[in-house]
Amino acid sequence: MNRCRVLLLNAALGPLDYRVPQGMAVAPGSIVLAPLGPRQMTGVVWEADRLEAESVGDNRLRPLLQAYDLPPLAEPLRRLVEWTADYYLAPAASVLRMALASASALDGGRTVTEYRLTGLVPERLSPQRAQALERLGERQGLVRELALAAGVSDNVVRGLVKAGAIEAVEVSVDDPFPLPDPDFGPPALDLAQGAAAHVFVEAVRAADFAPFLLDGVTGSGKTEVYFEAVAEALRRGRQTLVLLPEIALTEPFLKRFAARFGHEPVAWHSGLRQSQRRRAWRAIATGDARVVVGARSALFLPYRRLGLIVVDEAHETSFKQEDGVQYHARDVAVMRAKLEKIPIVLASATPAIESRQMAEIGVYAEVRLPDRYGPAELPQIEALDLLADPPPRGRWLAPRLVRELEETLSRGEQALLFLNRRGYAPLTLCRHCGHRFQCPNCTAWMVEHRLVHRLACHHCGHMMPPPKLCPECEHEDSLVPVGPGVERIADEVRALFPDAKTAIVTSDTIWSPARAAEFVARMEAGEIDIVVGTQLVTKGYHFPNLTLVGVVDADLGLQGGDLRAAERSFQQIAQVAGRAGRGEKPGLVLVQTHDPSAPVIGALVSGDAESFYAAETEARREAAMPPFGRLAGIVVSSEDAAEALEAARLIGRAAPRVDNMAVFGPAPAPLAMLRGRHRHRLLVHAARSLDVQDVIRDWLGKLSWPRGVRVSVDVDPYSFL
Ligand code: ADP
Ligand code: ZN
Repeated sequence: MNRCRVLLLNAALGPLDYRVPQGMAVAPGSIVLAPLGPRQMTGVVWEADRLEAESVGDNRLRPLLQAYDLPPLAEPLRRLVEWTADYYLAPAASVLRMALASASALDGGRTVTEYRLTGLVPERLSPQRAQALERLGERQGLVRELALAAGVSDNVVRGLVKAGAIEAVEVSVDDPFPLPDPDFGPPALDLAQGAAAHVFVEAVRAADFAPFLLDGVTGSGKTEVYFEAVAEALRRGRQTLVLLPEIALTEPFLKRFAARFGHEPVAWHSGLRQSQRRRAWRAIATGDARVVVGARSALFLPYRRLGLIVVDEAHETSFKQEDGVQYHARDVAVMRAKLEKIPIVLASATPAIESRQMAEIGVYAEVRLPDRYGPAELPQIEALDLLADPPPRGRWLAPRLVRELEETLSRGEQALLFLNRRGYAPLTLCRHCGHRFQCPNCTAWMVEHRLVHRLACHHCGHMMPPPKLCPECEHEDSLVPVGPGVERIADEVRALFPDAKTAIVTSDTIWSPARAAEFVARMEAGEIDIVVGTQLVTKGYHFPNLTLVGVVDADLGLQGGDLRAAERSFQQIAQVAGRAGRGEKPGLVLVQTHDPSAPVIGALVSGDAESFYAAETEARREAAMPPFGRLAGIVVSSEDAAEALEAARLIGRAAPRVDNMAVFGPAPAPLAMLRGRHRHRLLVHAARSLDVQDVIRDWLGKLSWPRGVRVSVDVDPYSFL
């Protein structure tokens, strides 16, 4: 029988059956090209008994067009696609798309033509052309990629090619990646590190599913330790996947990896050019890419011989994807390790309560590194009571913090001020009439960004120049910023210490791995004295000369508190505190707060994380909240307010009555409008034992709503906005 079932890369379609033409050989996992109406579409051959399709008689089947000359998607990955689709209530095709992340990689190896500046300035220099020349710099890529980077049309780029200012270069996309050498530069591990590394190395040798929680204080050498497991995987010819939470972290990581293994690993993130993506994807699929470091999207790639997964900074909530398939990369990574039958290491100095609980009940083996490596000690942490020692009016840094900054500078050491707020001020209002600037598309204030002279919405990206006149009362120059963002703190620092070199580190200033590398280089060269940054600087970085950390507003994370607010605050402050005193000089951390008696602050100051976690865990257990119970959010949205409300009510009325489950809402979402869509939320709370996905599938499957309504289900939600 020569028919097969194909999962196509189209979320709106179910699997379809095709005829396999004479002479074409396919098996489950084969990547194929299939006809679909007048078009062609990529898909993967699937086990027919695993996916339901409409039954079609043999004689009505259309033949497959092509089977790609690529290794088939292995069975563990096919099961992972099914599991992810099932668990997160997503179309299997959307999950599959993440595995086949580079459409162009499917074609055989060849060269790609890319373009770059020649240095020649054309005679006719239109403003557009000038902009392109200025913005492109060293950049290389397809015409489309260059046009995007330069903010000009494709035609401008093509015109520059004709004029000789841009030239074509042939890039081979199948150059092999250099092999990392497991014995290139191994460190001498200390006793605790050696013991931990031994456990992981044994697990890689055993080549079976083994989940670990690597719980080690900041600066304990977690990276050095799991590198030993990577080395073992290399020796055995197996691939390793290292997941990192932020693309900005990858660059320093690559350097560090190269120092240990002689070559950089293969990087996978959204900033890759198409040719780089294609080269990486193919090397991953053939098994030639031995170590892959990437953001969460690297998780679904078709590794040929995966032998180890590491999730670094595993507590980070950025592992949760909030659009498209709403999955949690940490959790799916554990499932992948289980299906692939390999070890996985979740590394963190501040593990999530979910992970700790798994260790507690013995599902994960816990490996601890209780001390910093070498002479470094954990920093001393003190709370600064903003009521007892307030900053002067209109300023945000308390006198004690300013004094410590001064001393740090005089010792030639570096300081870091942490405030998790981008821009200059979170709110702008008219001092005359009180008008507040709100985003036209979202329930959110417009945030002033003084560096680029704009008001911006952090939710939808809407921007406007700050108006001269108040749009309400038409008073001139009456707008005032309210509250601080990092830019305002940087201003205060510059006013206090005009000679100090400051740097602002946020996603606005560090938007690419190259920018991150530049920041690291400037820090290491001592070209920066004081860093003012958001959560982007709280993790991963290692600057031995950084000895003072100031947390500008420790209360910020607790506002509008959801389930994890206290935990997240603790993690964030502990992580940023962990940047201080990582070398030989001791570190000091000053935490500004209005409530020094809050349990989070108490835990940070006393260093007693255990009782804080114990209390948080107990509270979750009592309320049957995750990980002791299950949550799922349902967001109903439409551009039409009445339609959104109507659909949300319909879903609410149809809520099934099931034991061990309660449905709350619908209610207007805290972000009642987002990108021009009106939003309502329902929250499902269920016992762990309940198959809540099944209930929701059944419930929503019976209903229908107008085309303009979108209903998205968020299983294990991290955002409640
Ligand atoms: P963590 O990830 O636990 O915060 P790191 O792995 O970044 O800690 O280690 C902190 C610093 O100590 C790094 O500069 C690292 O290179 C260094 N280090 C850790 N262990 C060793 C070792 N055994 N030998 C040499 N340097 C080490
Ligand atoms: Zn907006």
